[in-house]
Amino acid sequence: MPAGRHFLQIPGPSNVPDRILRAMDFPTMDHRGPAFTDVGRTALDGMKWVFGTESRVVIYPSSGTGAWEAALLNTLSPGDTVLMYETGHFAFLWQELAKRLGLTPISIEGDWRSGADPEAIEARLREDTAHEIKAVCIVHNETSTGSVSPVAKIRKAIDAANHPALFMVDTISSLASIDYRHDEWGVDVSVSGSQKGLMLPPGLSFNAISEKAIEASKSAGLVKSYWAWEEMFGPNDKGSFPYTPATNMLYGLNESLAMLKEQGLDTVFARHRHHGAAARAAVEAWELEVLCNDPESYSGVLTAVLMPEGHSADAFRAVTLRNYNMSLGNGLSKIADRVFRIGHLGDFNDLMLCGTLAGIEMGLRDAGVPHKVGGVQAAMDVLGSRHEDARAAAE
Ligand SMILES: *Cc1c(COP(=O)(O)O)cnc(C)c1O
Repeated sequence: MPAGRHFLQIPGPSNVPDRILRAMDFPTMDHRGPAFTDVGRTALDGMKWVFGTESRVVIYPSSGTGAWEAALLNTLSPGDTVLMYETGHFAFLWQELAKRLGLTPISIEGDWRSGADPEAIEARLREDTAHEIKAVCIVHNETSTGSVSPVAKIRKAIDAANHPALFMVDTISSLASIDYRHDEWGVDVSVSGSQKGLMLPPGLSFNAISEKAIEASKSAGLVKSYWAWEEMFGPNDKGSFPYTPATNMLYGLNESLAMLKEQGLDTVFARHRHHGAAARAAVEAWELEVLCNDPESYSGVLTAVLMPEGHSADAFRAVTLRNYNMSLGNGLSKIADRVFRIGHLGDFNDLMLCGTLAGIEMGLRDAGVPHKVGGVQAAMDVLGSRHEDARAAAE
């Protein structure tokens, strides 16, 4: 084993803080006993706070993919048409899942370098005068490309087209990292997972559900059992679950929620934005290219970097792992081996980012990838500017 901490700089799973690991290291309790209801209630109420909803949140013992499936199964019927915007690999996977469930996705294909386009969505909905489209699905932070979609603007586009479709948003890698407001932005189902902004290990997933989605679930015809929201609601009202919850993950979740409350969500969002800006400054100084080419869509969660022509991103990642004990994210499907992804989300600070970028800069040299030195310095300048601003404000 190499000495020191491994740098886990993939865009999820993110680094789990010691405080959360310790909170999970506690005897598993009787999930039907009286002491558990506090744990259950704290988790369910806390998740409503993170999603920004007064309505319901359900928690599954599953990866994020399960919550994708739950969102569709609970609201739709066999053959239903769903409009899905393909911002990248994760949006594509959600479409494939919809097909396997017997739905009919219509895909709006993006360029994998920016967020979903509200105008394209509005135009497609206006064509659908018969209201055959039952749901619009987007990915808030596309983790394969590092591009953010404008959720509030897409809500406005759906309203401008006067279309009754449900609005579903994958927030798996944005929740607790990028500003998100389920109620205010009129989202019907928000899908999320534990192992990204929430700083937990993989293993929990979430649906935040509007009243309109609950109404739709009453006549939805797709077959479901394990994922049925309705089975959850009664027990959840008493702080419990219809089947064995991931008890120790819930201990961890409650610690995560406490940490987010102490830090304040706005501070957490600002930190992510700042780390995104610093990482992009490094990429620019290296004279490499950030995959996201729309400044409106820049992500504070991760930065995907295009390799120079003729150089393998995977070979480069193997070098940073071997020489510096750091894992970087790989390029997925269409952009496999063309990009590497720098995760800068969750429990993360300025010096961890500097270490990450230093590992990349040394790795570029070791792997013989053409670049200019000085990326770490450029990032330090951005990171330090925050304190200069604060100092100037105090004077
Ligand atoms: C990680 C991720 C997923 C997949 O979640 P799993 O927990 O691996 O099932 C889906 N969508 C987005 C945007 C993600 O970042």
